[in-house]
Amino acid sequence: MTVMQAPAYRRAEYHGFTAGGADFVYLVSAGAIFEIDTDVQAVLSRLDGQDVAHAALVRQLTGDGRDAADAEALVRELRVARLIQLGAAAPVMPQAPPADFPLQALVLNVTNQCNLACTYCYEFGADKIATPAGKPKYMTLETAKASVDLLIAEATGRKAVHITFFGGETLMNFKLLRDVVSYANGATAAAGKGITYSLTTNATLLTEEIVTFLSDNRIGVTVSMDGPPEVQDKHRVYKNGKGSYAVIEPRLRTLIAGHKTRAVTARVTLTEGVTDVVRIFRHLKDDLGFHEVGFAPVTSGETRAYSIDANGMDDVLAQFGALAEEWLEFALRGEVHGFTNVSETISELISGVNKSHPCGAGLGLMGVSPSGDLSPCHRFTDADTHVMGHVSSGIDRAKQGDFLARGHVEAKYDCQSCWARPLCAGGCHHEAFVRYGDTGHANLHYCDWIRQWTDTCLRIYGELAVKNPGFLERFAERKGLS
Ligand code: SF4
Ligand code: SF4
Repeated sequence: MTVMQAPAYRRAEYHGFTAGGADFVYLVSAGAIFEIDTDVQAVLSRLDGQDVAHAALVRQLTGDGRDAADAEALVRELRVARLIQLGAAAPVMPQAPPADFPLQALVLNVTNQCNLACTYCYEFGADKIATPAGKPKYMTLETAKASVDLLIAEATGRKAVHITFFGGETLMNFKLLRDVVSYANGATAAAGKGITYSLTTNATLLTEEIVTFLSDNRIGVTVSMDGPPEVQDKHRVYKNGKGSYAVIEPRLRTLIAGHKTRAVTARVTLTEGVTDVVRIFRHLKDDLGFHEVGFAPVTSGETRAYSIDANGMDDVLAQFGALAEEWLEFALRGEVHGFTNVSETISELISGVNKSHPCGAGLGLMGVSPSGDLSPCHRFTDADTHVMGHVSSGIDRAKQGDFLARGHVEAKYDCQSCWARPLCAGGCHHEAFVRYGDTGHANLHYCDWIRQWTDTCLRIYGELAVKNPGFLERFAERKGLS
C-alpha cells in the first residue's frame, strides 16, 4: 500500500537582504521587493533548507504563542504573496512577449566611418563582427526616411517612438541627422505620435551650431569618453596614434554649457588598466560638468590585452561600491548624484522588471545599418550573420523569432536557478556572441559580479525605502516610471 504524503511548503525563490535596519526579500518569480516583519521571518526560517507540511507548520507557529487562526492566516498570506509554495515547482519564468510586440525605438547608424581609431572598438577592433565591405559608408536620406516610416508603421499602439543616432562617428553625417529630425518630426506628428531623440558621439566634431541644434531639438547626448587626459589618450586615439583629449575638451565645455534641454551623459569604457572609476567619475562630473556618468567594462574576447581580468573586475566592483555609497548619501539628502549605473538599476527595481530578455534588442528596439539592413541592435549593424530584415521590406519575422527564442532567459540553463535573473536575464546578446559565438548564451563570465552589484543596488533601494521613501517616489516620477 502506498502512503500518500501531505504536500509540504517550501520557500519560494528569493534573495534576502538587510537595509536601513529592516529585512527584505527580492522575490525572483515577480521581480518584486518586500519588507518582511518578524512573523514572516518566523515562517521563512522554519522552511530554511526543509519542507514542512501545512499542519506541522501551523503547529510550530502556534507553539510560538500565536493562536491557530492567526497562524493559518499568516501561512495563507505568504502563499498568496508567493513567498512560500506547496511542493516543488519549476522556476517561474517570465512569458515571452507576443510575436507582434510593437517596435518603440530604432538606432540609426548614420555612418560606419569614424575619425578615431579607439584600440578596443567593437566595430573596427579584433572582435568586430561587422562585414561592411561593399556596403554604403553613409546612410542616405532615402534610407533614413524609410527607417522612420517603418518605425511608425511598426509602433502600433505606442504613443511615442524614439530614435537614437549612432555611428561610427555620428557627427560625420550631421547633415543627414538634421534632415531626418525634420522629416521624423513631421511624420510622427501626422501619425499622432510623439518622438524623442538621443545621440552618441566621440565629441571631436562638435561645434556651436551643432550644440544649438541638439539643444533646440531636445536631443539627449551621450559622449563616449574614458576620463582625464592620460586615461582618455590611452585608447581613444586618432589613426596616427594621437590622443583625442585636447581636441574634445573645449568642445565638451561648449556642449555642456550650451545644451539647455537634456542631460549630457558620459559613457566610459573600462579596460585593463583603466579601472580607476572614482577618479574618472570625479573628473567627468566635477571638472568637466557632465550631468551623468556611466561605466561599462569593455566587450571583448577573453584574451585581448585590453580585457579586464578577474582582479580588475574586483577592483571595479569595489569602486562601483564606493560611488554607490555616495549615490545613497546624496539620495538620503534628496539630491541627485549622477552615477547612472545605480540610477538605471534603481529604475528597474522601482518598475519591478522581470525580464524575459536582457534588453530590448530585436524586440522593441532594432538597429539600422547605413545600407538599411535591420539588426537586433546597433552593435550588430553591418553584420551579415545578424541581418533581421531591411527598412524597405520590413522585419524578417522568422529571424527575429529565432533570435528571441534563443535569447529568452528560459533557454539559458544556468540562469534558471539564479536570483538575479529578473534584472540580468543572461546579459548582453552582443557580448555573448563575442565571448561564446552565440547571442543566446548566458554571459557566465560575470555572474558573481552581477549578483554582487544587484545586491548593492537592492540594499540602496531598501535603505531609501526605510529612510527616504519620498526620494524613490520623486525618482520614479522624474523617470516617468509612475
Ligand atoms: S547570466 Fe549569470 S548573473 Fe545573469 S541571470 Fe544568468 S546566471 Fe544570473
Ligand atoms: S544586445 Fe547588448 S549592446 Fe545591444 S542593446 Fe542589448 S545590451 Fe545593448
